[in-house]
Amino acid sequence: MQYISTRGRAPTLGYADVTLAGLANDGGLYLPSHWPSVSNEQMRNWRSLDYADLATEILSLFSGEDVSKSTLAKLTSRAYQNFGHAAIAPLKQLDSALYVMELFHGPTLAFKDFALQYLGQLFNQLLTERGETCTIVGATSGDTGSAAIEAIRGLDAVELYMLHPKGKVSEVQRRQMTTVLEDNIHNLAIQGTFDDCQNLVKAMFNDAPFREKHNLSAVNSINWSRIAAQVVYYFRAALELGAPDRAVNFSVPTGNFGNVLAGYVAKKMGLPIEKLIIGSNSNDILTRFFDSGKMQQLGVKSTLSPSMDIQISSNFERYLFELMGRDADRIRAMMETFAEKGEFSIASSELQNALQLFAAHRLDDRETEKEIQRVYQSCGEVMDPHSVIGVAAARRHAETGTPTVVLGTAHAAKFAQAVSQSCGVSVEMPDRVKHIMDGEERAFDLANDLGELQKFINRQ
Ligand SMILES: *Cc1c(COP(=O)(O)O)cnc(C)c1O
Repeated sequence: MQYISTRGRAPTLGYADVTLAGLANDGGLYLPSHWPSVSNEQMRNWRSLDYADLATEILSLFSGEDVSKSTLAKLTSRAYQNFGHAAIAPLKQLDSALYVMELFHGPTLAFKDFALQYLGQLFNQLLTERGETCTIVGATSGDTGSAAIEAIRGLDAVELYMLHPKGKVSEVQRRQMTTVLEDNIHNLAIQGTFDDCQNLVKAMFNDAPFREKHNLSAVNSINWSRIAAQVVYYFRAALELGAPDRAVNFSVPTGNFGNVLAGYVAKKMGLPIEKLIIGSNSNDILTRFFDSGKMQQLGVKSTLSPSMDIQISSNFERYLFELMGRDADRIRAMMETFAEKGEFSIASSELQNALQLFAAHRLDDRETEKEIQRVYQSCGEVMDPHSVIGVAAARRHAETGTPTVVLGTAHAAKFAQAVSQSCGVSVEMPDRVKHIMDGEERAFDLANDLGELQKFINRQ
């Protein structure tokens, strides 16, 4: 399998190089040169597989020659062994045609574990085969940091430096990161804001000698292998509901367009998906786009669903590339306009085309609280503020009778305060993660200063 960049000027790479590279060197995002296709017969055979084996089958279509199937089987079995539910991604019925797939039984109680647990194993495998090591640096305002730390802890070939703004993440978020004491994990509490942390990370990548010396890398949401790993649960859910012999919809609470893009990929591979419904909070850049055909960047607002508080949906470029008939020159021009003016538009015929598959709905915080309460009253389920945005978006779209699967992206205990103020239920952390609340913590305090940070990394 070969991978090409959305901006058409980066070298064509295989799966291993695309995974280790992350972003393409022309500023674009990698995606497969063609979509692998899965026959109906093959899908029926997949119905009886367990989660890790299904992941092996699907990921082998993306890895091509670069990773053997037996190696993939080893990686997926390790990636999905630390989940707190035997089904890995259990499907629960909420209403006659409405289901939620619970993607929050991983080590950090949110769906990012599905991609990152696999990506950590894959990085370690590829680097070990090459006799290399790498240093991953990242900045977090809370959730992504812990998912990356859980994925990388204890791996031989990878060091991780995770920067968070000191005093500006919640106690649970901090403890999820700082109670991990393996030698290859370095938590850095920066005197500054999340933006300061992100700027420090960018500055390290822009320092070419430093970048090369440490073989710097990132595991952010534009990495193709994260998207590929997320394709698996779309197949799992649809197969359980009767695919390929019955169509399904998915409703996805989204920010970066990463999760819902994986649904688009599943559809291109042959999974019978009728609609992909996008749920956003007040940071509604995607909803406005699907209303108007205009992508326009506004300021970020804080909401009850902070993991979707984003300004730009970076993974959207991959879908746009598809929508524009894979015209890389056009994408490059649009992205230049966006960087300059903070907006771009597509033609109304192109928007109509996109709306064949996508629908989008927005919920503000009040509507989110009401939906948490409604779901609790109508089926006794206590759901987190991100997941219920998916439920409400699905309900607004429930005209066809096609079964709809909401992707449940976080455990209610992760957002216990918003949940209890909405429906009066206090949710406890599951037993398997409770130990973080009294575990020993380790983090290093650093000033918001590139020189000191680089000195710290050089010393390790
Ligand atoms: C990251 C995250 C999202 C948004 O996912 P995208 O891939 O950015 O669309 C939604 N919910 C939760 C709980 C998250 O952590």
